[in-house]
Amino acid sequence: MEFVSDQKLSGLKMFLDASTSPFHAVGNAKALLLQNGFSEVSDHGSWVSRTSHNFFIRDGSIIAWIEKDDLPSENGFRIVGAHTDSPNLRLKPFQKQSSGAFEQLSIETYGSPLLNSWLDRDLGISGRVVVANDPFEEVLFSSSAPICRVPQLAIHLDRDINEKGLKLNAQTQLVPIWADSTPNAPTFNEWLASQLSSDPDEIISWDLMLHDVQPSEILGAQGEWLASGRVDNLVSCYAAISALCDIEISDLEATPLVCLFDHEEVGSVSSAGASGNFLSGAINRIMSDLSPESRATALENSLCASVDGAHATHPNYPERHDLNHFVRLNEGIVIKRNANQRYATDAVGEALAKKTCENSDIPHQVFSNRSDLSCGSTIGPTTAANLGVRTIDIGVPQLSMHSAREICGVKDQEYLKVFCQSFFTDC
Ligand code: ZN
Repeated sequence: MEFVSDQKLSGLKMFLDASTSPFHAVGNAKALLLQNGFSEVSDHGSWVSRTSHNFFIRDGSIIAWIEKDDLPSENGFRIVGAHTDSPNLRLKPFQKQSSGAFEQLSIETYGSPLLNSWLDRDLGISGRVVVANDPFEEVLFSSSAPICRVPQLAIHLDRDINEKGLKLNAQTQLVPIWADSTPNAPTFNEWLASQLSSDPDEIISWDLMLHDVQPSEILGAQGEWLASGRVDNLVSCYAAISALCDIEISDLEATPLVCLFDHEEVGSVSSAGASGNFLSGAINRIMSDLSPESRATALENSLCASVDGAHATHPNYPERHDLNHFVRLNEGIVIKRNANQRYATDAVGEALAKKTCENSDIPHQVFSNRSDLSCGSTIGPTTAANLGVRTIDIGVPQLSMHSAREICGVKDQEYLKVFCQSFFTDC
């Protein structure tokens, strides 16, 4: 495969740039699904008269699936799971902080961001705001321009920073500035209300967060890498949704389902997270007219691919990797193994993942962490435990994981979409 054309990457780049919060990722996935003939079902209405192509949203999570009429229900599901959230800085509920010279934003960290990566970036604000409207209404908000910045201390005031390393206190040293302290400076609620063409008194609450406004970019001597915020894990979200949208219904032997969860970066325990009942509840409703026996058989015959970022071997820190499991950008799908079940792939799953890659003529690599370092995790193990479904953990290799700006290989994101298509129809 040649390096991927800019035109081919434009859909992913638009998705990355526009999905500045989990709520925006869900909104953009919804837009793609609607363009491709999917309809929304809700928690409140009946699902009995649903069509073949459906999706279901709960806060920052979305499930989409296709049902084929003449398919034996016992064939089960082919589930591709990913997550919509990324580590970042989030706005606290009460915003009134001033140094005397600057108006500042009260923030807390979400997940495990590389704190240094948030310094000296032009930052926007996005998320959802709840406004008063009999009794209230959720409004998506994303500032079109940069509004704040976390300025790093100048080297002249921190002379040995390059020798001693950078340590940041999240309460006192990551506090963004967003206005000069002048008598005319707006309060945060006044500013937000003006952005929403609303009244400050109508703003009740928010789930707001910061994002780097720099758009995604192709880089490298041959245009081989994609740099962006939220590569982990919106690259997987986009591949999964686009693969689902491109399915020919006649190719289906099982029910394809995509589940994009919020709250993976903080452990998945929430009503919309992978440890909650969001997915199992939806699957129960989809199978509501089956006998208990048929439901059990359907789950027994189902498979799940948990798709999430994987660590490429870092050229400057080879000692942080198990070099028997060398992972390169643009060298294909990474199959993740961990004996302690931080990843759900077992030997049978690894074989299935390799077969799926080989069937679609895409390369694969196998990752295993150094034995003396603690391993990351994904939605894979918790989804496998909740559903009792064989699950594989795979993903696209990347560098700078959990930085405000990460990079991955342009070929790999294309391989991932092909993998998802093959997983839905041939696995
Ligand atoms: Zn991730």
